[in-house]
Formats: sequence, C-alpha cells, structure tokens
Amino acid sequence: MSQQLIDSFGRQIKYVRLAVTDRCNLRCQYCMPAHGIEIAPRADLLTFKEMYRIVRVLTELGVTKVRLTGGEPFVRKDFIKFLEMLSFNDLLETINITTNGAMIAKHIPVLEQMEKVQNINLSIDSLQKEKFFQITRRDVFPEVYETFELLEQSSLNLKLNVVVQAGFNTDEIVDFIALTKEKNVAVRFIEEMPFNGKGQRDIQENWNYTKILEEIQTQFQVKQMVSEKSSTSRNFSIGGHQGSVGIIPAFTRTICNDCNRIRVTPTGTFKNCLFDDGVFNLRDFLRAGASNEELKELFLSLVKDKPANGFVAEANRKQGNVSESMSTIGG
Ligand code: SAM
Ligand code: SF4
Repeated sequence: MSQQLIDSFGRQIKYVRLAVTDRCNLRCQYCMPAHGIEIAPRADLLTFKEMYRIVRVLTELGVTKVRLTGGEPFVRKDFIKFLEMLSFNDLLETINITTNGAMIAKHIPVLEQMEKVQNINLSIDSLQKEKFFQITRRDVFPEVYETFELLEQSSLNLKLNVVVQAGFNTDEIVDFIALTKEKNVAVRFIEEMPFNGKGQRDIQENWNYTKILEEIQTQFQVKQMVSEKSSTSRNFSIGGHQGSVGIIPAFTRTICNDCNRIRVTPTGTFKNCLFDDGVFNLRDFLRAGASNEELKELFLSLVKDKPANGFVAEANRKQGNVSESMSTIGG
C-alpha cells in the first residue's frame, strides 16, 4: 500500500481544510473586528497553483476530501476556476465548501454540475434581517436567505452553520430547528470559540454542547443518529422532520479522539489542529523549490506531531492565547 498519513495515535488523516483567502465581505462579531483587521499582503497568500500542488501531494498520501473555506472563499478571484482545477485531481473524492452565501446564488448551477462538489455549509446565524445585520455588520440577509432557498432546492447537500451566541441568537434555536420540518437540511449549532481577532469573549452565559441540547429538548424530542466516526458534530433526528439537527462541540472539544483533519491557512501555514498556532510554513518551503517527494516526506513527519486533542494543542502554543480570527485560519 502507498504511504499514508498516520499520526502517533494511529489516526489516519483523510481530510484537509484549506482556507483560500483571509478576506471576507462580512464582519461577523464573533470572527472579525469591525475595522482594522490585518489582512495578509496578496503576495503572501498561496496561489491556486500552490494550493493545487499541496492538495495533490496530500491525496497521494491518502487524503480524499478537501473543505474550502476562508475568509469567504467566493471573494477570491477565480475561485470557480480553482474548483474546476481541483476537480481534475482523480485521487480527490469530495470537495466541500463553507460559505456565508452572500454572493453565491448565481454560481449554484455551476456548482451543481461539478461532480466532486457535493456538500455546502452555509453560515447563517439569524433568521431575522435586523439581527443578521447586527451579527454580520452587513445588510445582506435577503441575499443569504435566497442562497439558502436555492441550495435547499439544488442537488447539493446543504448544512447550515449557526454559531450560538449568548444574548444574540439563542432565542432562535427553536426557529432554526423548525426549518428542518419541511426542509431537508442539517442545521448544526456551533459552540462559540474565542477566535475573533481579539481573544477574550464577552460572554454572558456559556452556551456549550449540553446547554444547547437542553434548549433543543425543551421543544423537540430528539434521537441521536449514528454519524461517521470522524464527524465534527453529534447529530439528531426529530420524528416527522425531513432534516436533522447537529451540535458541534468546537470549544469543549469532545470530538478530538476521532479527528482525521489537518488545515492549511491562506498564507500556507500547516496546522495539525485548529487550536495549535501553526506548525510549518508550506509556502516558503514550496517557493524555495521543494519537490513533491520532499513535500511528501514533510507531511508524513508533520502529522506525527498531531496533538492528542485541542486542549493539548492549545497548551503547546508558543504565541500566546487563542485570539486570531477564524478568517485567518479557516473554519
Ligand atoms: N466565510 C465563510 C463562512 O462564514 O461560512 C467561511 C469561513 S468561516 C471562518 C467558517 C465557519 O467558522 C463559519 O461557519 C463561522 O460561523 C465559523 N466561525 C467563525 N468564527 C467563529 C468563532 N469564533 N466560534 C465559532 N465558530 C466560528
Ligand atoms: Fe467572514 Fe465567515 Fe468570518 Fe463571518 S464567519 S466574518 S462570513 S469569515
């Protein structure tokens, strides 16, 4: 068998999350400051050719899935062409995308035609126009809702990402679940993390996995579903509902044991874990002329240092507490 990416805990890496840009057209409160976010100089971002090479080598080591994220992936010029380019990789099975949906309605027919593009995660934290504006600091709720409806009717699998924000949208948890009655959509509630460009969260109440589940159970009888082992969410069905509900314990980190993921940031930093502070600069390595063989050797050795879980990764950080924006890491 060809060489595979296996960490020191025996976990096989099959999934890479690649953030294609750190730029974004929204300014979500929990992700970015309103003004003055530092964006990387354009020349420091990986080019699409460099990303293609990284993904190609990873797939030769057993990775079969890529998630494209950002920043907002669709703000990067020629992103659709990049999807076409990635589709040429015969070893890649699935291309997933995470998007805020504000500018993608017109691209949906093209996405539907791309065989490997199968799953879209749409981030939407409120179903109320005014509140959506307060959270994202941009008045684009109608555009995002239109994208939601079009995606729901499309051939793509749709998941909604809802970051649960104390004092902002917790009163809408049941409204989001109500959507799953008639619509075949997976609504996933995400624990808020301090990746917001400033660190410290001004949290009034801690909406963790347990509290979110309790809130759901006030109105709905849920039944735990069997999910893929490496799933980032615990998923539930509700009798008579077409869709499903999930909770992503992003901050309490109870899913790390089965993690099969690595990350590459927009500037080419390799990360073994969301909570580490970057392990290796792939961009400089590539630009210094590394061969694909050298890249392979590098990946095989880097994953050996994958920490047991996000708490260990956080404790090992050299550059201080978690405070960078998710837009610079890729969510
Ligand atoms: N711009 C795209 C979007 O919003 O879907 C892709 C990038 S965004 C960083 C990816 C995901 O990370 C989104 O679902 C977003 O809600 C989530 N996210 C960002 N900051 C977060 C935080 N501090 N805590 C939890 N989730 C966060
Ligand atoms: Fe942009 Fe996504 Fe961050 Fe919101 S969560 S600011 S849409 S990168």
